Amino acid sequence: MIIGLTGGIGSGKSTVSHLFVARGAKLVDADAIAREVVEFGSPILAEVVAAFGEEILHPDGRLNREQLGNLVFQNPALKKQLENILHPPIRQLIRTRMNEFESADPEGLVVVDIPLLFESKLESMFEHVVVVYVPEEVQITRLIAREGWSEDVAKRRIATQMPIEDKRLRADTVIENQFSLEQTANQVDALMTKWGVHR
Ligand code: ADP
Repeated sequence: MIIGLTGGIGSGKSTVSHLFVARGAKLVDADAIAREVVEFGSPILAEVVAAFGEEILHPDGRLNREQLGNLVFQNPALKKQLENILHPPIRQLIRTRMNEFESADPEGLVVVDIPLLFESKLESMFEHVVVVYVPEEVQITRLIAREGWSEDVAKRRIATQMPIEDKRLRADTVIENQFSLEQTANQVDALMTKWGVHR
């Protein structure tokens, strides 16, 4: 079974993914794949350079993400252009990896962690879409603790994403992660039992 896992920034996607992995699931991490497609020397990186110029590279030829981010930040047309280059190969590699895991073990569980699953309209790729939920106040507290951000910065980062309450409504399965890790782990156990995936 292949499930999509999403949530808000700091809501606990990575924590919950690893609880699934600790119980035998295979993980496809969309953020890691997004970095992989623009690795040093990749054809996709060459396309990005052709579109945005050499100045988005570090002197050693690796992508300068901050520079690229600054360039497209607050410029919707450039952002769209960048997404048109990056999204198809990212989606393709996610599909390839998840299908490989599923064929290797059809009775097992494949968890695909995609922070922007709803924003990118990828629901139909999955049998279940799981949202890792915490109320926004908890998101803010955990981001301050994890990143050392001020409350203001945390709120601004959260505001760039679809509100977590909206994601919750779109989920077919919600994991409540505002309580203890043990309570979260219990929900993960219950879901694996309900889905009948082996460990
Ligand atoms: P995401 O991957 O969604 O950005 P993380 O899994 O990194 O979120 O979780 C955000 C922060 O909150 C991390 O520092 C993590 O250790 C912490 N955290 C996650 N779940 C819990 C929980 N149930 N109780 C306390 N802290 C948690």
